[in-house]
Amino acid sequence: ADERFDVIVVGAGPAGTAAAYTIAKAGLKVALIERGEFPGAKNIFGGVLYRKQLEDLIPEFWKEAPLERTIIEQRLWVLGEDNTFQVAFRDGRFQDPPNCWTGLRVKFDQWFASKAEQAGAVPIYETVVTELLRDVHRVVGVRTDRVDGDLYANIVIIADGVNSLLGKSLMVHREWNPDQVSLAVKEVISLPKQTIQDRFNLEDNEGCTIELIGQMSKMAGLGFLYTNKDTLSLGVGVMVSDLQKKRVKPYEVLDSIKRHPMISRLIQGGEVKEYSGHLIPEGGFDSIPPLAGDGWMICGDAAQMVNAVHREGTNLAVTSGRLAGETAIAAHLRGDFSFGTLDDYNTAIRASFVHKDLKKYRGVHSLLGFGDSEKLFDKLPESLNEAIYQMLLVDGVPKKDKQKMAMRLLRDAAGGNLDLLRLGIKGWRAMN
Ligand code: FAD
Repeated sequence: ADERFDVIVVGAGPAGTAAAYTIAKAGLKVALIERGEFPGAKNIFGGVLYRKQLEDLIPEFWKEAPLERTIIEQRLWVLGEDNTFQVAFRDGRFQDPPNCWTGLRVKFDQWFASKAEQAGAVPIYETVVTELLRDVHRVVGVRTDRVDGDLYANIVIIADGVNSLLGKSLMVHREWNPDQVSLAVKEVISLPKQTIQDRFNLEDNEGCTIELIGQMSKMAGLGFLYTNKDTLSLGVGVMVSDLQKKRVKPYEVLDSIKRHPMISRLIQGGEVKEYSGHLIPEGGFDSIPPLAGDGWMICGDAAQMVNAVHREGTNLAVTSGRLAGETAIAAHLRGDFSFGTLDDYNTAIRASFVHKDLKKYRGVHSLLGFGDSEKLFDKLPESLNEAIYQMLLVDGVPKKDKQKMAMRLLRDAAGGNLDLLRLGIKGWRAMN
């Protein structure tokens, strides 16, 4: 009770653990508090883990971390009702050094936190932080659900994920709006290792990812199917605003994907081992809250740091956690834990790819508005597939007429020539 630390980190996801690891390595006294029975116990993601940002912390970590398969091929499938337009990219260079892997959080988070523990972080698991302790404006510690569970520190790093009750309590953000988060549901489906390799055209340890767009009950959503060692991760994330408007349940969307002829043959015979749901921050650049104040910093999902276009989140979390950790170390050396010093974290984030990438895609959020998203995620993919079908069908119709028909299909899906042009310009701007 009433124990004192240099830094308290709340949440042992990728952001919190990266912060605690960085701080512990510098010899400071840091607590890593996690509500789960162990780190990762209840955490889920798609998911893909990236090398670069983790390697910045732990060189060649992949030689010991529990990873599933090295991703050598990434596919994008546009699902129509009965058809699929596919794009795929495979490159041997993605293997050496690996660019990214599939992973399961229940194993990975536990391993990553064990590295922070080995570096000296004090693990406080099965413990919920219920509120921040404040001395007027300054955050001075946390209250936990343990008896006599108040803990004090010079700095509290908030890395409690997308719901971030602590962020809300600081009023750095409110309850997210339905158009700032998507709800993802995911199944882990077990299949023999060899069956996975045969079905996905892979060798031992090689993996592939398939991103899915299109036939998903007309929702602004993205599906995914990733290969693990002897399981597949199949899921879909749908904007909460769309689920509310269309009164559809997320598992209904997942079921419709599972029934799609291209997907059902890949998961056939598999047994669902796990079913879970989780929110994903989708607000992007304009939803990033203030990142620091007197005695506190906030990172990862709690600060909306997810690049949904590239399905990157863990790597932004790791980098923000590391930068918050480095700022805490500098503040310790200066003996100043006020906003004036901790705002250096904000400066470091602004200089990093986290800020730059989120800024680049800041317009994407506006594309997720209901009218446009229905066109982009449902009508246009459907028409694209129909246009390709017509172009490939050899039925004696002259190609010029087919081309006109294809253009008409796309135009009608967008709502007319002007709307097609408007969507094109909006899409181009959003991606630039
Ligand atoms: P989290 O991972 O959410 O960790 C927060 C931790 O804080 C949790 O362990 C939680 O138990 C703990 N906690 C919360 N509140 C408290 C409290 N009050 N007291 C104590 N502990 C608390 N990213 C990728 O890079 N690649 C992908 O393929 C990918 N796919 C995704 C697919 C899905 C379906 C989802 C949901 C997300 C995906 N992401 C992906 C995003 C990625 O998972 C997140 O960006 C990342 O996990 C954020 O890390 P974090 O540490 O900020 O938060």
